[in-house]
Amino acid sequence: MKIVDVKVFLAELEYIEPFTIALGTSTISRNIVVKILTDEGIVGWGEASPSRKITGETVESTIYAVKNYFKPILVGKDPICINDIFKEIDQSIEGHSSAKAAVDMALYDIAGKSFNLPLNKLLGSSRNTIVTDITIGIKSPSEMAKSAVKFVNRGFRSLKIKVGIDPLEDIERVKAVRNAVGEKVTIRVDANQGWTPKQAVKTIKAIEKYDVELVEQPVPWWDLDGMGFVRENVNTPIAADESIHNSFDALRLVKNKAADIINIKLMKCGGVHEALKIASIAAAADVELMIGCMGESTLGITGAAHFTAANESITYVDLDSDLLLKNNLVVDGGVTIKKDVRSLPTSPGLGIEKLAQDIMKEV
Ligand code: MG
Repeated sequence: MKIVDVKVFLAELEYIEPFTIALGTSTISRNIVVKILTDEGIVGWGEASPSRKITGETVESTIYAVKNYFKPILVGKDPICINDIFKEIDQSIEGHSSAKAAVDMALYDIAGKSFNLPLNKLLGSSRNTIVTDITIGIKSPSEMAKSAVKFVNRGFRSLKIKVGIDPLEDIERVKAVRNAVGEKVTIRVDANQGWTPKQAVKTIKAIEKYDVELVEQPVPWWDLDGMGFVRENVNTPIAADESIHNSFDALRLVKNKAADIINIKLMKCGGVHEALKIASIAAAADVELMIGCMGESTLGITGAAHFTAANESITYVDLDSDLLLKNNLVVDGGVTIKKDVRSLPTSPGLGIEKLAQDIMKEV
């Protein structure tokens, strides 16, 4: 089998309500859809959700990288030889992790379809359900408490609370949510780099009485020493998100003992082939794993869900971005949700049957 063409589409997906984290507010997720076509008629789909502040990519640079760097490498290649292809892609241009993740996802989609296996099985597991949390963006403490109750009533057992704008208000946010949902619901907190190391220690100590399962990225991404300082001085487990993009970052983190948990995102690491390397490092270092997302639709979330289902060492699942978006790019197939349980499709590859053509604009 050979790749004959690569097509690129822009999909603009509005959030149901403005989504605020410590890094800024989003009202729309501008994602890139990659379609890889083969001479056997098998087609693979992948999605990139670039982030200027996290992956260093814009929509324009993502499109440029796929069309001008990756497409010339892909055309003519056997799509099954993913490692060979990525040896070339990774050497063609540094960074561009979400663009690489979209290509990686489309290649795994083709591999699954060509072996007639759903991707989770191709990756080694028949597990096809996972339980996710749901994220509540930064708002006033009372508004966040209201959202929390709404999500708990929908069946979510785990909430991820965004904080990191103001330490004192952040304590109020966690307090309001805990008081609103009672003690049975799990609360995770994500500061998205918003605190200094000393602020983080003080704030985390103050919220520990509200039973917080973990705190994600308390300090700026580059400050591994600061993250280690926080980890040493609080009881709550610390998760590294923006500090860890690829396997090299993961190795540096475990050597520095800077966090208890690594948050893997396909968009940050460049896809399943690199996520597998991070998972191996974490397992060897006895560091726990979380999986997260950026602003992917159900297409990208389905790719991440297959990877998650196949790796039971991932104990914290945060695959919810599609649930925060108004328009659904996937109209048939893909991962579904009932209460907080996401079920994988059982058809070959990613299991995406139909995409909303009216949302996708070829670029
Ligand atoms: Mg995070």
